[in-house]
Amino acid sequence: MLDADFFRRWMTATAASVDREAERLTALDSPIGDADHGSNLQRGFHAVKAALDKEPPATPGEVLTLAGRQLISTVGGASGPLYGTLLRRAGKALGDAAEVGPEQLAEALRTGVDAVMTLGGAAPGDKTMIDALVPAVDALGESFAAARAAAEEGAVATTPLQARKGRASYLGERSIGHQDPGATSSALLIAALAEAAG
Ligand code: ADP
Ligand code: MG
Ligand code: MG
Repeated sequence: MLDADFFRRWMTATAASVDREAERLTALDSPIGDADHGSNLQRGFHAVKAALDKEPPATPGEVLTLAGRQLISTVGGASGPLYGTLLRRAGKALGDAAEVGPEQLAEALRTGVDAVMTLGGAAPGDKTMIDALVPAVDALGESFAAARAAAEEGAVATTPLQARKGRASYLGERSIGHQDPGATSSALLIAALAEAAG
């Protein structure tokens, strides 16, 4: 079973990974965006970590809703409200249980990803974070490691796609040939989940 401590470790591992990969995320956001994805997420996950350290929530659901709220209020880019919605909606779906099973987590993340698609209007194949998140959630029923691999594959597979949502879509065909920054950071989020699971 996964308790609040597991979810805190997930968020902390994501923050560390975003710190390590910030330059790469920003570099990916340079040719097809505005070169701020790394710094956007660094700001957001530093705030998440600070909030979790200040008052550690008692339940998995509250860890995720708190993290989501922080991302929405501190990240001034498209990715903030989208990641914030993912975590907040997943957190709400977990309710106030003190521990949850991996199946419940998979179901909650599915709810969160659906909410991101509703909010942003992106579908799989539009060259966004959705291209890493959907395969990850599909594979989560198998194992955390499978979800991690699926997210990484999904992120790499955005390279030949033409962007249909977000800033990169303004470039039309010129968005082809570049890996999507948001799909790349989603792969980091899922890798951190696998890391927290040990
Ligand atoms: P901004 O584009 O506002 O500078 P970021 O650079 O932080 O925001 O995030 C860009 C990423 O957000 C993109 O690489 C893409 O994965 C994701 N994104 C943008 N718009 C959408 C959308 N409508 N639906 C899903 N993901 C999106
Ligand atoms: Mg950007
Ligand atoms: Mg921006």
